[in-house]
Amino acid sequence: MSSMNCASCGAPVEIVNRFSKVLVCGYCGTHLKVSDGGVEIAGKYPKLADFPSIFQVGSRGTILGKPFTALGRMRYKYQGGHFDEWFVEYDGDKAWFTEDDGTYTLYTDLFEAVEIPDISTVKAGQNMLVGDKKVMIKEKGKAVVEGGEGELFFYVEPGSEVIYLDAVSEGKKVSIEYTEDEVEMFTGRPLLKRDIVVEG
Ligand SMILES: [Zn+2]
Repeated sequence: MSSMNCASCGAPVEIVNRFSKVLVCGYCGTHLKVSDGGVEIAGKYPKLADFPSIFQVGSRGTILGKPFTALGRMRYKYQGGHFDEWFVEYDGDKAWFTEDDGTYTLYTDLFEAVEIPDISTVKAGQNMLVGDKKVMIKEKGKAVVEGGEGELFFYVEPGSEVIYLDAVSEGKKVSIEYTEDEVEMFTGRPLLKRDIVVEG
């Protein structure tokens, strides 16, 4: 854990996870890029409106009986409403937890910068090969990043558009996100509310 001060308002800020790339100041909402030994201003955005979620930054508890800490979230807006992607430390590793209208998924396997077909050719219902995985696309959609809070190891600037694919592979849920710079793929499993215990 390392402590420093917000480059904008001077408030004390803390980085818990060594993989975090961006930290959102809890006092002024400035997005701070984490660099060697310090933080620099990535941009100033309005703080996220308080939007109900199962977690808050700093929430701890267990998921499927293993410990987690919720470190930060990115909120996306899409046609169906909003969804949140929580960056969590889970059982000593990093993971994403998504919350979409009362549906929860824990993504524990992350594949960065994957090679996949041109997004414009991809359609729902199609099978495609991603690396060595055969993936069946269930849904293709567009979302806009509304903002973030806490600390994040995957960061897209607010206002950016992301194209996402919801898919399945070998019985696992697959989430693929196309941003301007890269493609990320996560695999994981759906959760029931009783799988998640928030202790504080
Ligand atoms: Zn600040």
